[in-house]
Amino acid sequence: MAEKNVKDLLRKLVALQKIDAEVYEFKRAIKEQPALLDGIKAKFDKKMTRYQELEARAQELERARKAKELDLKSREQEIVKANADLMALKTNKEYQAKLFEIENKKSDKSILEDAILKFFDDSARLAEDMAKEKVLVDAEEKIYLAEKDKVDAAVKVLLDKVATFESQRNDACQGIDKATLAMYERLVENRHGLAMVPIVNDTCGGCYIKQTAQMLNKLEICDEVVRCETCARILYLENVLS
Ligand SMILES: [Zn+2]
Repeated sequence: MAEKNVKDLLRKLVALQKIDAEVYEFKRAIKEQPALLDGIKAKFDKKMTRYQELEARAQELERARKAKELDLKSREQEIVKANADLMALKTNKEYQAKLFEIENKKSDKSILEDAILKFFDDSARLAEDMAKEKVLVDAEEKIYLAEKDKVDAAVKVLLDKVATFESQRNDACQGIDKATLAMYERLVENRHGLAMVPIVNDTCGGCYIKQTAQMLNKLEICDEVVRCETCARILYLENVLS
């Protein structure tokens, strides 16, 4: 390739690199944004989990109470029936047995009533705890959502910036051949956004490895694209391009 063309190509790549360095930083910042919410989200989730545990416990209590209420109802019906049976009994023995049965059922009924009352007490206490927890969950959620709004807004600003640079980038790519552009883009991707590096004090501006006299000579002549043998970045001498 002619010297003039290589210089021209390198100048275009350096201009493109300026844009890509910005875009790379914006994209990195975008990726970092969600992690900013991790701590706050974890606090909110923890409170929410605690609240959901109480909720589950409340449902459990209600189910258990309803089961006892059903038992109570059938016990009451059995007592009514046993009382009716009482009238039809002929012998004293049968009568005494039935009375005993009724007493037993009444005692069952009383135990069930106590258990049901205890469930009501437990549920009432639990409801108080839940009301307190709800206040804490809501407060934590409010903090989380406010922070999430900020992060979402920051991401939007960054995305807008990327979009602006992308359109500039399209213009900057004009006149760069496909193969060189693809190679350059792979470097941007794999070398933390930095593909084009100037020589600084005879060293690569990317990996800081000292370049040989032969390499520096090639860069002076500038009739081919020269890459650092250590980091593979594209090298250039600022004074040659200016
Ligand atoms: Zn290097």
